[in-house]
Amino acid sequence: MPLSERDREELADDIIRDRRISMSTYCGSCGYNLKTLPRSYHCPECGSEYRARPPLMKGIYLPHENSPPFGEAIAVVVCVLGAGLLVVGAWNSKSTGYVATAAIFVAITLSIAVHVVVRTNRFLRTLRLGRQIARQEEDLE
Ligand SMILES: [Zn+2]
Repeated sequence: MPLSERDREELADDIIRDRRISMSTYCGSCGYNLKTLPRSYHCPECGSEYRARPPLMKGIYLPHENSPPFGEAIAVVVCVLGAGLLVVGAWNSKSTGYVATAAIFVAITLSIAVHVVVRTNRFLRTLRLGRQIARQEEDLE
């Protein structure tokens, strides 16, 4: 639906007052370009809520968050080795203190592993969205 002259002027006023997104900014769920939409709204493509007002951005594609969780993955490997040694030691010694320490270490290892899975999923989604956005921009050129 084409915008009327009045709608275009209101849109320009909103952009000048920083109420609307003035540059290409993409939905964090589907990659839709949110340019000219209000800074806090719902994506017209997928319906996800977003807020494009720094520093509290929400639901926005942020390419700088696109780093693989290598550090956390190494921490999980180290914790698994440490937890394994503690569990074997606790099994051999039957000491209550040893078992408690092993249990705490296993719990910490599991929580870090869950964090790595969440970060890996976020990384893969951001990677996929980045490719999709690049294809969309190529199509527009
Ligand atoms: Zn969307």
